[in-house]
Amino acid sequence: MVAMSQVLPLVAAAYSERLTRRNNSELTQIWDLLDQVTDPEIPVLSIWDLGVLTQVEKQQEKLLISITPTYSGCPAMDTIAADISSVLTAAGYQNFSIKRVLAPAWKTDLMSPEGKAKLHQYGIAPPLLNENCCSGQCFSIECPHCGSLNTKTISEFGSTACKALHQCLDCNEPFDYFKNI
Ligand SMILES: [Zn+2]
Repeated sequence: MVAMSQVLPLVAAAYSERLTRRNNSELTQIWDLLDQVTDPEIPVLSIWDLGVLTQVEKQQEKLLISITPTYSGCPAMDTIAADISSVLTAAGYQNFSIKRVLAPAWKTDLMSPEGKAKLHQYGIAPPLLNENCCSGQCFSIECPHCGSLNTKTISEFGSTACKALHQCLDCNEPFDYFKNI
């Protein structure tokens, strides 16, 4: 079987757009600083990796940080906002506000390729690209333990609602798949 990476592009348009926004920003040091803030549920992922950090701007003298929740009402967002405040305050920034942006909605295509690689190393199968696959059901999910594509869905809901529980039919290990949205 041909590995997914050989037939599908690895970078989604939604991520490329966000990366361009960061690279063209005059506030590069703020984006870099916020790489310290991680997802409380999956600590190997920064909010940049996860696609939650969507914009850093300056309005007059005030910094405006935009974050897009992965799920509406997600309790992790309160922790993330508090962590952003701590990191900015510790670096000497006092004049800032954190804005929650609900539209356009978060989707897994916003995740960074590095973040997907970190998820894989963490033992969670990363989401497929939406632009390649409408539902995530038409490609085999790769086992993060042995790399086999011979896997099956055990349950549509894994340890959290955003993950499905899969099992590898070669190494028999169960694993979470971060569903594409
Ligand atoms: Zn396996």
